[in-house]
Amino acid sequence: MTNSAASSTDEARVVDAVPTGLFIGGEWRPAASGRTLTVDDPATGKALCEVADAGPEDGMDALAAAAAAQQSFAAMAPRDRGEILRSAYEVIMDRIDDLALLMTLEMGKPLTESRGEITYAAEFFRWFAEEAVRIGGGYAVAPNGASRFLVQKQPVGVSLLITPWNFPMAMGTRKIGPAIAAGCAMVVKPAQQTPLSMHALAAILAEVGLPDGVLNLVTTSDAGGVMEPLIRDGRARKLSFTGSTPVGKKLLEQASEQVLRTSMELGGNAPFLVFDDADLDKAVEGAMLAKMRNMGEACTAANRFLVQRGVAEEFARRITERMGALVVGRGTDEGVQVGPLVDAKGRDKVVELVRDAVDRGARVHVGGEPGDGPGYFYRPTVLSDVPLEARVTSEEIFGPVAAISVFDDEDDAVAAANDTEFGLVSYLFTENISRALRVSERLESGMVGLNTGLVSNPAAPFGGIKQSGLGREGGTVGIDEFLETKYVAIGFAG
Ligand code: NAP
Repeated sequence: MTNSAASSTDEARVVDAVPTGLFIGGEWRPAASGRTLTVDDPATGKALCEVADAGPEDGMDALAAAAAAQQSFAAMAPRDRGEILRSAYEVIMDRIDDLALLMTLEMGKPLTESRGEITYAAEFFRWFAEEAVRIGGGYAVAPNGASRFLVQKQPVGVSLLITPWNFPMAMGTRKIGPAIAAGCAMVVKPAQQTPLSMHALAAILAEVGLPDGVLNLVTTSDAGGVMEPLIRDGRARKLSFTGSTPVGKKLLEQASEQVLRTSMELGGNAPFLVFDDADLDKAVEGAMLAKMRNMGEACTAANRFLVQRGVAEEFARRITERMGALVVGRGTDEGVQVGPLVDAKGRDKVVELVRDAVDRGARVHVGGEPGDGPGYFYRPTVLSDVPLEARVTSEEIFGPVAAISVFDDEDDAVAAANDTEFGLVSYLFTENISRALRVSERLESGMVGLNTGLVSNPAAPFGGIKQSGLGREGGTVGIDEFLETKYVAIGFAG
């Protein structure tokens, strides 16, 4: 039995404080249809509140508001745009307790993890506040000396930002931060399951002085119906999406009509390689982080543990001990380390994948079944002897299940790791420096965690290759996704 770290009064207070309308042109307003959608608490299955449910007409109003704001926002001094982000960073950090409680209520992750996400989310604003004033350009002499080149960076223009439910605030600030820094107005569409954190964020940005119309927020139960006309409209110049690969592919097709600039942060199937020469303490620590952050509901989650035969048994024993000791429960309760999955569909998929692996001969060391209701809980699970043809090795698990397979040599390990259409992140544990560099180079992924289970950092370029996406978020390249390069050829009569 655990005690709640937040009173029901606190819970009601933070939910009541969130504006529940659509935010268009600097005003909160109901959907044109008057419709609302319900936001549930995945730990109880009960409704938290209703928010406005945008239809296509509202989407078009949001795009028109962004288009109207674009020119003057692009002309705002970079320092002023940076100051807005910096102020928003300060406000978010001042209110971290309430924002964390709100996030836990709508998404399920434990409060400590919500605090971690909010810090990570705010750091994107701090980082891009600093990048806003470092947008460069160039001046050069042509090779034949007869002309000069002037190269400047300009905001790409109105941007459409679509975010998933698993990191309700950070996946937003990772796009909103560079868009503001670059001078782009935007329409933001959060996931319908977890819109409250984004509503709270929009209110904070308005409070710190973001001009009306620069950020427009459309929460909707009809993502395709609202966003497709915007993508095809011609006033938007950029689409930045974080979510699943099938939806990303569909959006890329739509975006081809207007040849939009696109950034795609899509699904993953991360291999986690442990060699015989690894420091096993580090590997187990890294595994817990890479597997259990966000209850396994992360694109960066370790999906396939590939462990060299000499340490496989010991690794499985230690992971089993750690997973078995985790406290599962409502994320608002003290001491809880694993919250519910986001909904029944997500939980049922984990049930199916584990059943499939077991039917094909996998061994269950701990867990292997859903937790007690009424929320969508699943017990932390360790499987070993997982055959490579089990679905759990090719599909995103998005749950607290560690699936372990054994390999014998380095070539086999690399071949197994790369045997996926995804390429977001790989993890690699070895104390041999030559092997570390050799295998890092051979892994087909946009990121590698070398002796660490955590790669996400606002100051680093985050993103995938293959079907995990296009473009990078964060780091010094993150702002480039929202900038165009213009070259002015200068006739020169020297
Ligand atoms: P999803 O189903 O693809 O949804 C993502 C977003 O797209 C949501 O806002 C969703 O709206 C919206 N959407 C769905 N269909 C759409 C359509 N036809 N047109 C426009 N928008 C549409 O993904 P999810 O289940 O929310 O998120 C989990 C996935 O995201 C996983 O595959 C995970 O790996 C990936 N992810 C990737 C990264 C990364 O950085 N690479 C980070 C986090 C998550 P509604 O939900 O409101 O319908």
